[in-house]
Amino acid sequence: MTEHPAISLAGASASDVPSTPSPDGRKILLATPRGYCAGVDRAVDAVEKALELYGAPVYVRKEIVHNKFVVETLSKRGAIFVSETSEVPQGARVVFSAHGVSPAVHTEAASRGLLTIDATCPLVTKVHKQAVRYAGEDYDILLIGHSGHEEVEGTMGEAPEHIQVVNGPEEVDSVTVRDPAKVVWISQTTLSVDETLRTVDLLRERFPQLQDPPSDDICYATQNRQGAVKAMAPSCDVVIVVGSANSSNSVRLVEVALESGAGAAYRVDWADEIKEEWFSGTRTIGLTSGASVPELLVRDVVDRLGNFGYTQVELVTTASEDIQFSLPKNLRADLKAAGEHPDRPHKVRERSAASESEGVPERAYVERS
Ligand code: SF4
Repeated sequence: MTEHPAISLAGASASDVPSTPSPDGRKILLATPRGYCAGVDRAVDAVEKALELYGAPVYVRKEIVHNKFVVETLSKRGAIFVSETSEVPQGARVVFSAHGVSPAVHTEAASRGLLTIDATCPLVTKVHKQAVRYAGEDYDILLIGHSGHEEVEGTMGEAPEHIQVVNGPEEVDSVTVRDPAKVVWISQTTLSVDETLRTVDLLRERFPQLQDPPSDDICYATQNRQGAVKAMAPSCDVVIVVGSANSSNSVRLVEVALESGAGAAYRVDWADEIKEEWFSGTRTIGLTSGASVPELLVRDVVDRLGNFGYTQVELVTTASEDIQFSLPKNLRADLKAAGEHPDRPHKVRERSAASESEGVPERAYVERS
């Protein structure tokens, strides 16, 4: 792992990646968008701001986002990551991760007098609200997602008696519902778009009156990152995805690259995991990163690939993103009371010059917290 002694975990501009023409045509295609999404950016910022404002330690339930580097860096700054709320000392401050928690976790935290900062991504909260609404209307809710993933556990916890998890197309045949006329599907936010649609098609064959959720549950960031990989993969001999093994959206990017025509695809946490033998006889390497990956880890990979002769970098831009979520309300209030600015102006300028070019579709969400 490359050391970054005083790095900021905030995203970096995507527009200033160094590029030098390669005499033999070897090049890197750099997917845009990639890396940090608005929900991850907000969650990491919440822990950093909490550490600055309240001082260490600040407890964090589960990994704040699924990225080893982020978790290790925040740990060095005084965050203490725990698996369960019961591990947090009575009355201490705890941040809930971007993946969300079930109501039972909130209840337990309140009963132990914990001071909570809820960094659940607003787009995950949206899915929780759908679950609550459909459970209130007595639907059977089919939650397409991966059993055991924190986000799925949190959503399940909203209405466990109404929700069953469908892990993918292979599980459709074993689904049973009380009333086929009253069944709805919702999903985890970080799934493969194509596989989820296949699952929904199969579910609808079994339950023709299956109701769709009112809006996409697979979030804009997941869709945009997969879209960029789909566009570049057919031109790539190899695709490198920077992201951790427990990052659902990073793992999906490897699958999407292979399904979309890349010769090979590898996921790495760090640049030094990359092996030169992966590139024997190759000319074009695709590069992207999951939604929980700071841009500096991508820069490390660009540097390493440059050492192998891939010095020319071309952006493959399929969408622009200009989305930002406000910090959790109680943290904002405490920042204001302490005379700190609760807004996050550094985020606004992160929009890449490349993605501002004409003809690139923008998908914007209004911040809601
Ligand atoms: S991947 Fe999507 S749902 Fe998850 S934190 Fe990012 S924006 Fe939110």
